[in-house]
Amino acid sequence: MLDAQGLQASLFFETPLEIYARVFRELKPRTAMPELAVEFCRFANADNFIKLEHGKLHVRMSDLLEGAPAPVLEALAHILLGKLYRKPISRMYTHRYRLYLNRRDMRRQAHLVRQIRGRKFISGPQGAHYNLEEIFERLNTCHFHGLLGRPQLGWSRGDSRRMLGHFDPSHNAIVISRIFDRAETPLLALEYVMFHEMLHLRFPVDHSGTRRCVHTKEFREAEKQFPHFKAAKEILKTL
Ligand SMILES: [Zn+2]
Repeated sequence: MLDAQGLQASLFFETPLEIYARVFRELKPRTAMPELAVEFCRFANADNFIKLEHGKLHVRMSDLLEGAPAPVLEALAHILLGKLYRKPISRMYTHRYRLYLNRRDMRRQAHLVRQIRGRKFISGPQGAHYNLEEIFERLNTCHFHGLLGRPQLGWSRGDSRRMLGHFDPSHNAIVISRIFDRAETPLLALEYVMFHEMLHLRFPVDHSGTRRCVHTKEFREAEKQFPHFKAAKEILKTL
């Protein structure tokens, strides 16, 4: 075990590879150290991957983290190795890592990287049965005094039931699941999902602290103003 002073000193001088090796020994003291490869990659997201293949441990971190302080890389090493070996991950590490990612400058950088690197497929508003632009503009007039700027609108590639709709601020796009683009799906359900995503335009995400509170109280209240709110939610259950 390292005392606090020793830990700080070692953190200060460790390379990312050494950090992973040390955390590995902490988590798996009786297992022989596998060969380790740690690299930073240009991903579209702040994603990080770990895998054990042919006895070699590969860690690929987003290059957004290349300049991160050692304690942040240490926290991520605990998270990735903990997941790989199914060990409980101390909340201290998840908290430390999230706090860093949530810093304003990190969020801005991540947002830019997503915009530049993340190619996003957006189908365009015209579906087989419904036109998202018409629906957006009708709801905009009725519920937002026509004041919302129209983002890109598109249908999802697949018939997603898990993700009925989402607003992607990096691409300023609302994407709606194709399951709504059917003659048998009532327009009300589609309008409700669109209305919900439009509220995300109206109430941007609150990033205070480490938790992203996406559906604030204010948001929930506004959502209830949708006519036939309950009926629409009932339809969603039957899809
Ligand atoms: Zn939402």
